[in-house]
Amino acid sequence: MSGSFGARPVLLERFRDLLPVTSATPLLTLGEGATPLVRVPRLGADIGASDLWLKVEGANPTGSFKDRGMVVAVAKAAESGARAIVCASTGNTSASAAAYAAAAGLEAIVLLPAGKIAAGKLLQAFAAGAKVISIDGNFDDALEIVRELGAGGGGVEIVNSINPHRIAGQATAAHEIIADLGDAPDVLALPVGNAGNISAYWRGFTDAVRIGSTKRRPRMAGFQAAGAAPFVSGAPIANPETIATAIRIGKPASWDLAIAARDESGGFIRAVTDDEILRAQADIIRLGGIFVEPACAAPIAGLRNAIADGSIDGSQRIVAVMTGFGLKDPDTASRLVGEIRQSDATVAGVRRALGW
Ligand SMILES: *Cc1c(COP(=O)(O)O)cnc(C)c1O
Repeated sequence: MSGSFGARPVLLERFRDLLPVTSATPLLTLGEGATPLVRVPRLGADIGASDLWLKVEGANPTGSFKDRGMVVAVAKAAESGARAIVCASTGNTSASAAAYAAAAGLEAIVLLPAGKIAAGKLLQAFAAGAKVISIDGNFDDALEIVRELGAGGGGVEIVNSINPHRIAGQATAAHEIIADLGDAPDVLALPVGNAGNISAYWRGFTDAVRIGSTKRRPRMAGFQAAGAAPFVSGAPIANPETIATAIRIGKPASWDLAIAARDESGGFIRAVTDDEILRAQADIIRLGGIFVEPACAAPIAGLRNAIADGSIDGSQRIVAVMTGFGLKDPDTASRLVGEIRQSDATVAGVRRALGW
């Protein structure tokens, strides 16, 4: 079942020793993990960072980092004989759950906050045959319902990041970064929503020190959207709002783990405005060539501020996690569309259109 011809590693095999993989676990894969770590000098220069790298998680099979944890959660659900998986989602979890459920032959049920899901993500869930339920409420309401549905047993497995297999799978990204750089970076910057990912990275770096692949752990720099920043205000938020729908979460499930990651690493969790997010999204593609969805722009906007005010040293090695692919949210990205230049079908016409 692994299908591991050629060189491409299968996540469940490559990280077998760090994952709950047993001889009974199906080696499910859609080609997740082993994502590019790309140095971006032009983008770095623009925000004052001389050694900036992007971990391009949008290169995962469904276009977000969610695939790393989902492959483990769905493989374990299949191993345990589950018939269905269920999740609440701001979009990417549902896209990932639907795809892995399809590959494993399980039913996928996804609960989404009404009207707030980026078009690409919704399309992915439908295309893979998930049962999509729109909740008249926000992500936090949807997660409450999922907790009760899953608690009922009946072969229905919860695959939100409260499922420990999700965090274990997502931690693999930290090991990949160490393997690619030969060491941990000084700073790991990422967007924070439900806070599963910041918890997973911290666990990954901590495990890496334990097994001896690095001697040190990075400072964790988490960034939220100003309208959905419970870690910044210090308490849950009832009505989170931001254009970065992937981090539009007011009551993060992994609260304590995220606080531990922040404090043990000597890091911080800060907020950036939606305007700063939109500017950074354009900067990342125009100066770095990597097209990301709005949530990924939060760490770049936030790094720019943190370097400017001296809370991060711009000469340090910084890895920013680009959690999801730009085409997932075409509506937000459509403001980047420019004017189409008209021309007749001649070289002279094209020259004219270019102003040459
Ligand atoms: C899920 C998601 C996040 C937030 O990750 P958490 O683990 O919920 O903090 C950020 N960006 C993208 C693209 C996501 O899909």
